[in-house]
Amino acid sequence: MSIPAELAADVIAFRRELHAHPELDLELPKTQAAVLARLAGIEGLEVSTGEGMSSVVAVLRGEAPLPEGTRRPVVLLRGDMDGLPVTEETGLPYVPDPAGTMHACGHDLHTAGLYGALVYLGQRRAELVADVIGMFQPAEETDGGALRMIEQGLLEAAGPRADAAFALHVYSAKYEHGHFVSRPGSIQAGCDDLIVTVRGRGGHGSVPHLSQDPVPVAAEMVLGLQSLVTRQFDAFDPVVATVGHLTAGTASNIIPDTATLAITLRTFSTGARARLIPAVERLVRGIADAHGMGVDVRPDCEFPVTVNNPAEVDYARGVIEGLFGAEAYEELPAPEPGSEDFSEVLLRVPGAYILLGAVPPGQDPAAAPTNHSPLAVFDDAVLPRAVEALAGLALGKGPVAL
Ligand SMILES: [Zn+2]
Repeated sequence: MSIPAELAADVIAFRRELHAHPELDLELPKTQAAVLARLAGIEGLEVSTGEGMSSVVAVLRGEAPLPEGTRRPVVLLRGDMDGLPVTEETGLPYVPDPAGTMHACGHDLHTAGLYGALVYLGQRRAELVADVIGMFQPAEETDGGALRMIEQGLLEAAGPRADAAFALHVYSAKYEHGHFVSRPGSIQAGCDDLIVTVRGRGGHGSVPHLSQDPVPVAAEMVLGLQSLVTRQFDAFDPVVATVGHLTAGTASNIIPDTATLAITLRTFSTGARARLIPAVERLVRGIADAHGMGVDVRPDCEFPVTVNNPAEVDYARGVIEGLFGAEAYEELPAPEPGSEDFSEVLLRVPGAYILLGAVPPGQDPAAAPTNHSPLAVFDDAVLPRAVEALAGLALGKGPVAL
């Protein structure tokens, strides 16, 4: 099986059109309109849009005959649609104008690839057993678009709750062109950001005993956090804690009222994530308390660990190897440290998140600019493969016993 040349050209053209007009966060009006216009060409597709965001959900019904006592499986395929606040420096002919936003994480390829898979599945509906949910998602990078879509009924869009869910993510570096890369279990880190504010009492720098100086307390928290990570967590189930932003005060001789730490926490197992956040809260409260000060802890951003279902990874591997040969699939030895809100889908539906190498030809994957770089280039020659793989994951699913 191989997708028609005309469809491959259409998908690549769509990707370049999207690339020239990236949008950010939840509201992607131009992107949504472009997706809806393309989907309008697919006969019988059930299309709905989200409330308070530019999501699109498309349901394509399989028409292959069903044996008695069975129902159609529901397969969810994800394509995220948002760009990043990055000024592109690749020099490609379809660089966005005006500057300031960029599809620097390849979500334009995901959107175009999902569109292509729905077209292709529409052409092969007679042999498709599954009902397919196409999830066109905003705000993967920022505001938890996946969870909002779930809250608006995404998983039940075809009737019964989705039985399996798959997402591909292109990489501009690291992995060989056209290679699919995944692993059973954790594949992307959990990410939790906390804003910690130490509440002291300001005063003159020469008489600290007459005030409550939050600065040494915040400094103690920075160091305590590193001890916590290495002393309370298993080295083989690692945790990363980084204080990326630390602010307090205005001048050398003024003790400020408050000091603020912005912390990012990365975890690679659901268990470590569940233990880490209370442990950090206990630490900062304990340190503040020891110095007679108060502290506020505010969660800023939460992404669960992305956990692949082993049986669905095996299934996906079989589909990919069947389509492209055994050399097209690589098993990842350890999870990726980035985070991904497809985790919210995989918390609820067994499935697999699969990386796809899209490094431009002639570039060394180990040296090419990575996703999120202003120089990241994603070779859209991988798109026909992405379309075939996504469609293949839906076509391979048989009936579910009632
Ligand atoms: Zn991404």
